[in-house]
Amino acid sequence: MDRHVSDMKPESWLVAAGREPAPGAPLNVPLVPASNFIIGSGREYARDDGTPTWEALETIIGGLEHGHAVAFASGMAAIAAVFDQLHAGAVVALPTDCYQGVAGLAAAGAQRGRWSVQLLAVDDTAGWIDACARADLIWLESPSNPLLTVADLAAICAAPRKPGALVAVDNTFATPLNQQPLALGADISLQSATKFIGGHSDLLAGVATTSDPRLWAALKTSRELTGATPGTLEAFLAARGARTLAVRLQRAQATAQLLAERLAAHPRVLLVRYPGLPSHPTYATAQRVLKGFGTIISFDVRGGAAAADQVCQAVRLIHHATSLGAVESTIERRAAIPGQQHLPPSLLRLSVGIEDADDLWADLSSALAAIEATP
Ligand SMILES: *Cc1c(COP(=O)(O)O)cnc(C)c1O
Repeated sequence: MDRHVSDMKPESWLVAAGREPAPGAPLNVPLVPASNFIIGSGREYARDDGTPTWEALETIIGGLEHGHAVAFASGMAAIAAVFDQLHAGAVVALPTDCYQGVAGLAAAGAQRGRWSVQLLAVDDTAGWIDACARADLIWLESPSNPLLTVADLAAICAAPRKPGALVAVDNTFATPLNQQPLALGADISLQSATKFIGGHSDLLAGVATTSDPRLWAALKTSRELTGATPGTLEAFLAARGARTLAVRLQRAQATAQLLAERLAAHPRVLLVRYPGLPSHPTYATAQRVLKGFGTIISFDVRGGAAAADQVCQAVRLIHHATSLGAVESTIERRAAIPGQQHLPPSLLRLSVGIEDADDLWADLSSALAAIEATP
């Protein structure tokens, strides 16, 4: 009766996994709001032992990533649990283009003397291979945020490591459908389930997956001791969102490819960063490492920050909002965010949703036309 991910395609697994096959059991993931359980089954207290709702989400994502998953309160909670594994004085190799929360977490820990941080460009493959031999945590994020640089995960994960070193990959932008870090040799793959897995901008959740049983137990213990547990409704919604992940991703990334090509040809656009464009600096790596190029496009408009702000104000179908990976398209000027001033001032990050491609292009092109001529 037991289903296994190797028996089917990931698209089928997303729909089939995490359901109780027993006669009379609910067809869907049960929403179990319980802190404690009757003693006798081994499951006593939710923070220690989990709940059937969290476990359904863990089964779905764990299978997809080819490991065992631990669900957390947010992506950052899952990420903090990985940093929680470090011993005092550890060396962390971190990408220069990195999710802001992770950069902040790493910097705060470094400031308190808990670890030291070495920054590397995402596409500096030789630098990462070298870091594998010296660092205790090799933190990769690919494609990166917001420059969408693709790391050569296959080469980096295969490099010899310092004994005990961990290679962790923030796989949020790629999703487990486009990239499988554990299969490439990483120790941990992370998802902010807030993004593509949930897919509807209505929850915060995170998942860490590993194929190492000891590491899995350590991550679970970290969740238990820090109390970084997922909400019941959030885990339910994330599992429900996962059912449609494949169709949402396939549609949105087909639209993203089209919009990236049209943006690249637009006279008011200076530069488009999308891993599926041959002009992208890591296009060749993306072809090798990724199954699909994702739904995020970063592009710079002519006319600087003011012009980019005008685009954000002029869109009608696309929402001027942060975050990504949802059914609705969102756009924001990244350098407007505190702490992100190092980015190009007119860089717009567009998360393409599942709306009609021509409607999205009509919205984008009229917003670009609304840029007032700059002197
Ligand atoms: C959003 C995000 C996170 C953090 O996830 P939360 O669920 O917001 O805590 C981490 N990494 C990446 C790449 C993200 O996009």
